[in-house]
Amino acid sequence: MADETYTGSFYCVKCKEHRDATGKVTVNAKGTRMAKSKCSVCGTNLTKFLPRS
Ligand SMILES: [Zn+2]
Repeated sequence: MADETYTGSFYCVKCKEHRDATGKVTVNAKGTRMAKSKCSVCGTNLTKFLPRS
């Protein structure tokens, strides 16, 4: 299965601002889809929960 990526708005808790970024989509044991990326400004890890498709 090919890696899925998500491009869109992530919220950086450190900057307290939204960042447009591209991240890798992961699925946990409960089937929750999350995209993970990094803030382009401060380097903090960004996580966004994605709705089920
Ligand atoms: Zn940031």
